[in-house]
Amino acid sequence: MDWKEVYEQQDPAQLRRQAGRCMDCGVPFCHHGCPLGNLIPEWNDLTWRNEGRAAIERLHATNNFPEFTGRLCPAPCESSCVLGINQPAVTIKQVEVSIIDQAWANGWVAPHPPERLTGKTVAVVGSGPAGLAAAQQLTRAGHTVAVYERDDRIGGLLRYGIPDFKMEKKQVEQRLNQMQAEGTRFRAGVEIGVDISWSELRSRYDAVVIATGATVPRDIPIPGRDLLGIHFAMDYLVQQNKVGAGDVVPQQLTAEGKHVVVIGGGDTGADCIGTAHRQGALTVTNLAIGYQPPSDRPEDQPWPMMPQIFEVSSAHEEGGERQYLASTVEFLGNGAGEVRALRVAETEYVDGRRVPKSGTEREIPADLVLIAMGFTGAERDALEGQLGLPFTPRGDVARDEDYASNQPGVFVTGDAGRGQSLIVWAIAEGAPRPPRSIATSRARPSCRAPFGRATVRSASRLALHSHTTTTATTTTEGSHETSQDRRHSGARHLEL
Ligand SMILES: Cc1cc2nc3c(=O)[nH]c(=O)nc-3n(C[C@H](O)[C@H](O)[C@H](O)COP(=O)(O)OP(=O)(O)OC[C@H]3O[C@@H](n4cnc5c(N)ncnc54)[C@H](O)[C@@H]3O)c2cc1C
Ligand code: SF4
Repeated sequence: MDWKEVYEQQDPAQLRRQAGRCMDCGVPFCHHGCPLGNLIPEWNDLTWRNEGRAAIERLHATNNFPEFTGRLCPAPCESSCVLGINQPAVTIKQVEVSIIDQAWANGWVAPHPPERLTGKTVAVVGSGPAGLAAAQQLTRAGHTVAVYERDDRIGGLLRYGIPDFKMEKKQVEQRLNQMQAEGTRFRAGVEIGVDISWSELRSRYDAVVIATGATVPRDIPIPGRDLLGIHFAMDYLVQQNKVGAGDVVPQQLTAEGKHVVVIGGGDTGADCIGTAHRQGALTVTNLAIGYQPPSDRPEDQPWPMMPQIFEVSSAHEEGGERQYLASTVEFLGNGAGEVRALRVAETEYVDGRRVPKSGTEREIPADLVLIAMGFTGAERDALEGQLGLPFTPRGDVARDEDYASNQPGVFVTGDAGRGQSLIVWAIAEGAPRPPRSIATSRARPSCRAPFGRATVRSASRLALHSHTTTTATTTTEGSHETSQDRRHSGARHLEL
C-alpha cells in the first residue's frame, strides 16, 4: 500500500463503450442529479465519437475543476441516470475524469485571461474549491482577485483534508498554475481576522467573498475525552498531508503500531482509515452510531433520488472492521493519562433519538482515537465580532439566495454558507449558474455558452456597480484567447 492515487485509468475502448451506453434520453435526469448541471449526454456523445477536445470544452462549460469532481464526487448524477432504472448506470464520473486527464495530458487546458480589467478588486478568503471557483470566475470576468488563505499552501480541504491516495496534489498544482496565469493572485499564510482584520479587508477591496469552509469539528463530550491519544480527524489528516508534501512534522501523530478507532462513518472517517493502514496500524475499527444502510436502493428513496446506501470506498476495501449501532459512552485510560480503550454500547432508538442501551457495554482497545463526526459550521468569532455577520441556527454564515450577507459587498459561498457538504456543491456555489431550466435546455445543444450571461452577471455583481464594460469570458473555461497586452489595456494595474 503506498500513497499514490488508488484509481486506475480506464481502458479507452471500455470508456468509449460506457460513454456510448448513454441513451441521449429526452429528459436527461443526470443533469438534475449533478449540482453543476453538467452537460453529461453531450460529453458522453463526444467521448464516444473520440472528440476529446470538444468533450473537455463542454465539460468545462459548467465545471471549473472536473479533475477534482471526477475523482472525489459521490456522483449523484449516476443515481439519477435513466439507464439506472433497470440496469447499471453509465459510469459518468469515470468518463468525466478521463476527459479532463486526457485534456491535461494533451495540453488542451490553457489559461483564459480576460480581455480587459474592470478596475474593481475582490478579496476571496479561503482557497478550497468554493474560493477557487469564485476566484476563477471573477478573474475571467476582468476583476482583480486576490485569494487569502491562512494555511501555508493553497487548496483548502483539497490540499490538507483529502489524502494523496484519493487525489494527488499535482491535480491542485496544475489548476493553480492555470489560475495564476489568468491573473488570480494567491496569498497563503495570511489569516483574515488575525493578520488583517475583516473590516480592514473590506475597506481595501470593492467586494469580499467569504469561502472559509465549515471547519468547527463536532466533539464527543463524554468521560475520558481529555485523555492523551484522542484527536480530531483533521488534526491527524493535515499532518500526514504535510508529510506527503515533503514537510517535517515534529512528533507527527501516527497510527504506526497502534490500535486505531475511528468514530464516524463518512468521508472523513474513510480517509482516516486509509491513512492509518498506510502508516502501519495494528488494527483499525470504524464505529458508526446508526444502522448499516441497505446495499440496494430502499423503496422510500426511489429513482432518481440519490439513495443512502452502504458505501464501500477504497479505504474500506483495504481492511479494517466497520461496526454499526455503536454508541461510545466513555474513553478509558491506562493510569498514565493515555487512552487504552473505548466503552461502547449498542445504540437503541427511543422516540426517534439514538441512545446507548444499558447492559450492552463492551470494550474496544485503542491507543489512537480519531473523531470524525462531522462539523458544526463555520468559525464565528471574527466574522461576528469584526463584521457583525449573523449566523443561522445550524452554525452557517447567514446569506440570501444570491449569496449576499447582511453587509453590502460581502458574499458567502461554499461550506461557510451551506455547512460541510461536497466539492461539487462548493464549485457550484463558487461559480453560480443560471436556473437549472436554462442549464438543462436540450433545445440548444450546439450553443457554445448557454451559461454566459448569468455567470458573468453574478461575477460582476460582486464587483459592485462597475461602470467599466467587462469583456468577460462566457463559459467557465472561457472562449476568448487574448494577449497580455490586450488584457491590461484601458485598466489600471492593481497591486493587492
Ligand atoms: C477529510 C475530508 C474529506 C472529504 N472528502 C470529500 C470527498 O471525497 N468528496 C467530496 O465531494 N467532498 C469531500 N469532503 C467535503 C469537501 O472537502 C468540502 O465540502 C469542500 O472542500 C468545501 O469547500 P470550501 O471551499 O467551502 O471550504 P474548504 O475546502 O474547507 O476551504 C476553506 C479554506 O478557508 C481557509 N480559511 C478559513 N478561515 C480563514 C481565514 N480567516 N483567513 C484565511 N483563510 C481561512 C481554511 O484554511 C481552508 O483552507 C471532505 C471533507 C473532509 C473534511
Ligand atoms: S460533478 Fe459529480 S454529479 Fe456532476 S457529473 Fe461529475 S460525478 Fe456526476
